[in-house]
Amino acid sequence: MFITNYIKDVFGALKSLAVGLKRTGYYFTHHKEIITEQYPDNRDTLVMADRFKGEVVMPHNENNEHKCTGCTACELACPNATIKVITKFDITPEGKKKKAIDKLVYHLELCTMCNLCVVACPSDAIVMAQTFEHSVYDRSELTKVLNKPDSKIMEGIE
Ligand code: SF4
Ligand code: SF4
Repeated sequence: MFITNYIKDVFGALKSLAVGLKRTGYYFTHHKEIITEQYPDNRDTLVMADRFKGEVVMPHNENNEHKCTGCTACELACPNATIKVITKFDITPEGKKKKAIDKLVYHLELCTMCNLCVVACPSDAIVMAQTFEHSVYDRSELTKVLNKPDSKIMEGIE
């Protein structure tokens, strides 16, 4: 009985090895189908998959303007408190008080890249960037303010 099982195991292992080698042999002859990236050797030519999500960012235009109204929908949508929206009141040219964003604080170290905040944003003020290599020695560097210093909201965004 023991010998039978032993022989079965040996043949099972050989079969499994043959399956693996067959796959290896296939890719030797089908180079264009290989999707594994030789990182970091290919840093200059690295192609990221469309669906890859690296971090939440807030795009600004050339006038240092963004689309964030400070509505806090992203903060409410985030399942793990990665985003904190701090608001302030601006004074409009008519002298009225208007709620605006002071800081949008983002804790990259907590983010699961679930994209829920991006989907929840009614003004498309935040997007997922394809950045990576986020390792740092000091975790406080992973806490970011997404709106740039002295930036303001774009004209026409309410
Ligand atoms: S991607 Fe998900 S976890 Fe990250 S900030 Fe947005 S909602 Fe939160
Ligand atoms: S990023 Fe979007 S959802 Fe978040 S506070 Fe700004 S406008 Fe609202």
